[in-house]
Amino acid sequence: MRSSIPLGRIGGVRVGLNISVLVIVAILVFGLGFGRFPAVFPGYPRAAYVLAGVAAAVLFMASLLAHELAHAIMARHEGVEVSRITLWLLGGVAELRGEPRSPGADLKIAVVGPATSLLAGVVFGAIALLISGLVSGAALAGGMFAYLAGVNVLLALFNLVPAAPLDGGRVLRAILWARWHDRARAAIAAARAGRWFGYVLIAVGFLQVVTGRSFDGLWLALIGLFLVNAASAEEQQTRLGTVLHGIRVADAMSGHPVVASPDETISGLIERVVMRHRLSTYPLVAPDGTFAGLVTLNRIRRVEPERRGATRLADIACPPQEVPRARPEEPLTDLLARMEGCADGRAVVLDPAGRLVGLLTPTDISRTIQMADLRATLSGPRGADLAPPYHGDHRDAA
Ligand SMILES: [Zn+2]
Repeated sequence: MRSSIPLGRIGGVRVGLNISVLVIVAILVFGLGFGRFPAVFPGYPRAAYVLAGVAAAVLFMASLLAHELAHAIMARHEGVEVSRITLWLLGGVAELRGEPRSPGADLKIAVVGPATSLLAGVVFGAIALLISGLVSGAALAGGMFAYLAGVNVLLALFNLVPAAPLDGGRVLRAILWARWHDRARAAIAAARAGRWFGYVLIAVGFLQVVTGRSFDGLWLALIGLFLVNAASAEEQQTRLGTVLHGIRVADAMSGHPVVASPDETISGLIERVVMRHRLSTYPLVAPDGTFAGLVTLNRIRRVEPERRGATRLADIACPPQEVPRARPEEPLTDLLARMEGCADGRAVVLDPAGRLVGLLTPTDISRTIQMADLRATLSGPRGADLAPPYHGDHRDAA
């Protein structure tokens, strides 16, 4: 999930908004300020409804953020690094780097989110009761807090459905993990439950559209579609992790890469090596031996032939800080989780002194997966393939 609008850091965790969050804010402001509130609490000026709608939308986003922060803080407490929190169209995501080390940690990180939403529901409910009891003529304000209480309780309950990647799916994974002592098998079971729950939501949503309650139905179907996709991706990721278990970056990389100088021209590189070695990736190494960027054939092709004689490789390279880096002894699956940025799916392998020792390209990765798959098949069925056809991981849907 890309954060298009950074909000800064809270407790050291990067927090951002995806642009799609504006859609849900608009739906809340219009749906409440122009629809629900005027209908249920008549007799206020128009501006009061709009203000209540905006306040409800902002407080809802704040309570969603509290839910995600709870996950993030607990994750760090359990030794799992948190890369960022993003709020988007369908809710929030706390992106964790790496996996909890035990079923207990998995369970705690998952449960603390819905618990926070339940607590928010109780607090907002108490405020609503206080306002209605103590302040006369404040039915609209009381109603707004009652609405926030309701949506937070709903958020907690919905996310506790045992279906990955919802929190309830993580709970299910933790329980199965503790029982089976096999994390991958438990994760696959939870992802399958997620996919099936997604299908159910799509079907229910479709029925609602057909019977005329179109908007709610579309929303459910959208959440269902997201769950099916996310759960399927998670299952694949888990299977890949199982297949690649124990393989280090050094096992998969191509060593002794052909390198170029940042000051070399594109034409120079083409004449010197591109036509002779059939390579698609050229790391740049500065005279002092430090890694200085990555040039791929894709980048070379984007420069018009007549300009290639005057263009330096440094000018078209993916800058060094944006190229994924790995250490030779690191598990390959850890690197695969960080393969982003402008390097066209490549990564460089550096030794502790920062010298370039290897390169990892999509070809290297797919060859390694195929070899590992072959090895897994030869050694007979394992963990993941023995999972029962039981319908049974972290993202929060609003
Ligand atoms: Zn959650």
